[in-house]
Amino acid sequence: MRHLSPVPATLALLVLAGCVARPAPPVLFPPASAPPVAQAPAFPPLPPMGGDEKFQAFVRAFETTAVAAGITPETYNRAMAGIAPVPSLQPIINEQPEFVRPVWAYLDGAVSPRRIARAKELLAQNATLLSSIEARTGVPKEILVAIWGMETDYGRDVGSYNVFATLLTQAYDGPRQRYAQGELIAALRLLQQNDYVPSQMLSSWAGAIGQTQFMPSTFFKYATDGDGDGKIDLWHSPADALASTATLFQREGWEAGKPWGYEVRLPEGFAYQDADLGNLRPLSEWTGRGVTLVSGALLPQGEDMAALYLPAGAQGPALLLLDNFRQIMKYNNAASYALAVSILADRMMDRPGIQASWPRDEKPLARAERMRFQTDLAALGYDAGQVDGLLGRKTRIALRQYQLAHGLPADAYPTWEMLALLDNDASKVAPLTQ
Ligand code: CA
Repeated sequence: MRHLSPVPATLALLVLAGCVARPAPPVLFPPASAPPVAQAPAFPPLPPMGGDEKFQAFVRAFETTAVAAGITPETYNRAMAGIAPVPSLQPIINEQPEFVRPVWAYLDGAVSPRRIARAKELLAQNATLLSSIEARTGVPKEILVAIWGMETDYGRDVGSYNVFATLLTQAYDGPRQRYAQGELIAALRLLQQNDYVPSQMLSSWAGAIGQTQFMPSTFFKYATDGDGDGKIDLWHSPADALASTATLFQREGWEAGKPWGYEVRLPEGFAYQDADLGNLRPLSEWTGRGVTLVSGALLPQGEDMAALYLPAGAQGPALLLLDNFRQIMKYNNAASYALAVSILADRMMDRPGIQASWPRDEKPLARAERMRFQTDLAALGYDAGQVDGLLGRKTRIALRQYQLAHGLPADAYPTWEMLALLDNDASKVAPLTQ
């Protein structure tokens, strides 16, 4: 599953604390004439593996870290038998897409008619199971099925990487080393405590496992035996995977009986700078500002805190997001992902999808153009962050400040029209830099 955000389909936010192991001690290669290192722990010899000498030395050194964390040498050897670094991983981790898919195109793929139809079949086939999970946890069955569909196409694609190989590769080198080391220890513990075959422990490139893609450390917090066979198998038992996801949401604070949010209509002359995921206001306050349901009807009464989200800026749909939407973002910290889950859940229950139209004529910005937003804003004296073409929070804030200063709708949304204005202004203060 590819997501719009560079954040992988992990539960990174949930799992960073707790399980991260200390990094392995640096590996020193003694000169050929040096005596053997006397204090090296005497583990049984590792089975043959791939990779170069440096990688193999890392695997040997990491055994000390693993054993200190309670992994037996026997478990370690089973996991590392025939292990080799995954050569194709770095380009995936460092991926800088040339074009970022617009949110409507992403939703077209994520909430396709085929995926909705399959969800309806699965709701019917698993009605008893899903009702009992919903009764136990308060998490709606359609949200669980939507996560299942988004993460692995309902269990059809649970990943093609060996969880030990991909985590070891990332623990060895790259930007996610410490995180991957903690997850690697957790994956080893999974093997040690369960009746799994290491070579069959498949994962995404990030190391997420099973039909609803749990990171190994998340398993120990939330994994649940949903089919009551006394074992937890997130790969082969949809009941276990769905019950585990429901347990996660329940423990993280899912508000039973509440929706994810509402599509809304904004009044003429609305102050778009208030549309920000971090700007939580009670529903009553949004009503006071003239925000209604998209049908024109009044918003539900109450003091539930909601943020206004304009996924395609002022020219697209407007959504008021409640706390359960923020719960879904804990699964994958991208608002577009949580929106796809929410809409897919609605559509499989025959509730309407998004009513307002998307600005489909808007051509995607290529990386060079996204970078020009940042160089233009910097040239004009705004702090737009690093020039990386990613248009993160800093760039959006800078863009919003520029829009406010120029009396433009301050939706912080990058369009070609905005870029033309910025290019023009920036050309007056500094030569364009690419
Ligand atoms: Ca089970």
